[in-house]
Amino acid sequence: MTTDVHGSKGGPSPPLSRRSLLLGGAVLLGGAVAVGASFRTLGERWDVVVIGAGVAGLSAARNLSDHGLSVVVVEARDRIGGQLYTDRGFTSVPVELGAGLIHGRDAYTWELVAEAEAETVLVGPSDQTADPLSTPEPPHDGEDAAAYLNRLGIPEGRWPPVSIDNEPMHRWSARWMHDSGLFDWWSTPRENFRVVDGYDRILSPLAHGLDIRLSHAVRRVHWSDRGVVLSVDALEGPTEIRADRCVITLPIGVLKSGDVVFSPELPDDHREAIRALDRTDALKLVYEFDRPVFPAEKDVLGWDEDTGFVFWCLSREDPEVVVAWAAGENARRLTALAVEDRFAAGLAALAEALDETVPEPRARSTHDWATDEFSAGAYLFVPPGAHDAPAALAAPVRGVLYFMGEPTTGENTVEGAYVSGYDGTDLLLADL
Ligand SMILES: Cc1cc2nc3c(=O)[nH]c(=O)nc-3n(C[C@H](O)[C@H](O)[C@H](O)COP(=O)(O)OP(=O)(O)OC[C@H]3O[C@@H](n4cnc5c(N)ncnc54)[C@H](O)[C@@H]3O)c2cc1C
Repeated sequence: MTTDVHGSKGGPSPPLSRRSLLLGGAVLLGGAVAVGASFRTLGERWDVVVIGAGVAGLSAARNLSDHGLSVVVVEARDRIGGQLYTDRGFTSVPVELGAGLIHGRDAYTWELVAEAEAETVLVGPSDQTADPLSTPEPPHDGEDAAAYLNRLGIPEGRWPPVSIDNEPMHRWSARWMHDSGLFDWWSTPRENFRVVDGYDRILSPLAHGLDIRLSHAVRRVHWSDRGVVLSVDALEGPTEIRADRCVITLPIGVLKSGDVVFSPELPDDHREAIRALDRTDALKLVYEFDRPVFPAEKDVLGWDEDTGFVFWCLSREDPEVVVAWAAGENARRLTALAVEDRFAAGLAALAEALDETVPEPRARSTHDWATDEFSAGAYLFVPPGAHDAPAALAAPVRGVLYFMGEPTTGENTVEGAYVSGYDGTDLLLADL
């Protein structure tokens, strides 16, 4: 495990800039590139309404607004970022209760890091990678990943440790894992980066100048060939928002819950895609200690599937901040407990991993993604039979509804959401 500090200028650069490429395209098309959006009052009609101010919603709105369209973003929470959630109130360092890492040196999100002039730190590469798996025969369409690896005669001890940050193998589509290279993902050394002063720093280059309505929960999407009317619960009471087109970046848990009603119903392919995809459970328990607890020579503890938890030290300053991570079955076991008991279970597991007693933390923080009604679970995974679902959901509906974000990528990364907002709105712009 190595640690290396970068300023934005020293950080990796993506192979080509997604944003500058598209802005260049707007100029070539002769479109007036808006700096910021035109603000309208409610009751007026927008070119596009974007549902959700997570990374995908913000990048979609950025692209549309930069191409001169009138755009409003409608966000249920009182903050932007969605699953990218930086808690700045808890301790001396910003704590990520959702997404924490930039994966790899070629992620497109590096351009946002550079724009925000944010400082990053390299975490890794991990020194505990699995051996490459030989998967010469392709999986069957509905086969689960465990059944597939068993069929190939690959012993469980050699399976990639997917459940450390997701679901166990039997819940995954073998076809999706195979086609997306996920069976090999663990065998290549990974370089992950953390934004030192908070991951939410990368949101400002996307959000600046946009008209974002916070605390506006969409309850119903009335749609037809002529556009959409959204029924919205706002703090000041129910309201309606009208637009020619609608970008939907709701997380898969919310789409599955039916809390946002589509009227008329979505086409069969879209409903089937929503039914087929699923979301995992994931949980961080963050502890602040007033004396050093974590071994000086280690950054990460428990990076194996047997312990259930992974622990890392976020700050060695006074106070020391330690994060306990649980996903899949372990996260569900924890979220079934009262919050106090979750913290106690994390602390007991930390003591076991350290093989010594751990002091009472002086502060703690967590976020329950499972009961959060605007997430209804943590990030996406692709179950058996669902390998075509992300593409099916991404297909525009009659030039009016455009789904983007995590459920249309099959990925569960900030980078995937960022790229999806741009790619999806390219489709929309091409339809104009
Ligand atoms: C615990 C955790 C750890 C993670 N770790 C990483 C990581 O290390 N690296 C990484 O790259 N990715 C990570 N991810 C995944 C990553 O955060 C997501 O894939 C990505 O942020 C998804 O972005 P999105 O815009 O598609 O969706 P979301 O971020 O889910 O945005 C959807 C938005 O829709 C809003 N919304 C919901 N319902 C309504 C409604 N009715 N009306 C209006 N708005 C509504 C939500 O409030 C939200 O803002 C993690 C996620 C979690 C939960």
